[in-house]
Amino acid sequence: MQKKRLAAVLGVCVAGAIIMSACGSSAQKDGEVSDVVQTEAVSAETESVPVPEEISAPPETVSAPEESSAVSEAAPEPEPAAQEPVPEAEETISWDPSWEYADYSKIHSDSVTLYRSDASERKDCVIAVNAGHGTDGGESVKTQCHPDGSAKVVSGSTSAGATEASAVSSGMVFNDGTPEAEATLSLALLLKDALLDSGYDVLMIREDEDVQLDNIARAVLANNCADYHISLHYDSTSSDKGVFFIGVPDAGGYRSMEPVASHWQEHEELGETLIDGFREEGIPVFGDGRMAIDYTQTSYSTIPSVDLEVGDKASDHSEEMQEQIAQAIVRGLDLLR
Ligand SMILES: [Zn+2]
Repeated sequence: MQKKRLAAVLGVCVAGAIIMSACGSSAQKDGEVSDVVQTEAVSAETESVPVPEEISAPPETVSAPEESSAVSEAAPEPEPAAQEPVPEAEETISWDPSWEYADYSKIHSDSVTLYRSDASERKDCVIAVNAGHGTDGGESVKTQCHPDGSAKVVSGSTSAGATEASAVSSGMVFNDGTPEAEATLSLALLLKDALLDSGYDVLMIREDEDVQLDNIARAVLANNCADYHISLHYDSTSSDKGVFFIGVPDAGGYRSMEPVASHWQEHEELGETLIDGFREEGIPVFGDGRMAIDYTQTSYSTIPSVDLEVGDKASDHSEEMQEQIAQAIVRGLDLLR
């Protein structure tokens, strides 16, 4: 069972690697990323080759070419069945301990789902939608802030100077009593539908009240199976100050630490462009739409990744407002392309 699951996961991530090279505006950067992913996927695949026949069903991508060549020897003009396999609408992706930075995660017992768009114009681009918070017990587990063990340079929910932070903090509570995790979940579900309708594929990190995946696990899953990572949050102020993204601090050598050094410009570009989407949608933006904090997500991301703070404790988080926020995010992503 476990092997079968692993094979399915590999199938997804190989497909993901192929998609990555076709997605996004910056081909050079994407090239670097997908090389790494492909190498990992291939080496893992080799390990799983000596497995009984029942496993041959999930990795259709791999077995299809062999079949077609065998058929063409027997019959010169076979039916056009050996075309690109139609991707499944939904695929479950489980944790792979061989992924880069996987060892830094302490909570990763849940799987995630990749949804493929059936829109007429598919964008071949996977967006990881990460509803902030919502991991029972995550507050009391500690993980390393930075992969190199250095201390946080700017205070956020964890103070500067700390080398460890909560694996997943519990989030704030709105002035009306709604927990932040509940609002980020309802927004994530609306965003999923909006993205699928617009042709994006969606990797849903959390679809329920609780997911046993810490912030590092969420970043690592996105790194390996998506092209962009967007986490959704509401800030802990009470001024309804507007939307902003968490930028990458230019302090304490943070931008020289890997993987931040190789990716911080992509994070900034994604954040700025998403904020443009909010401006176009007429949603108030806080200041210049950016606040620099070294977040765990940023510290472990190898794909363009951003934390969006779409309001605060005093902000409207009704379905109508969240629908508008979802549209603004889609609009921003469209601007990237
Ligand atoms: Zn939050």
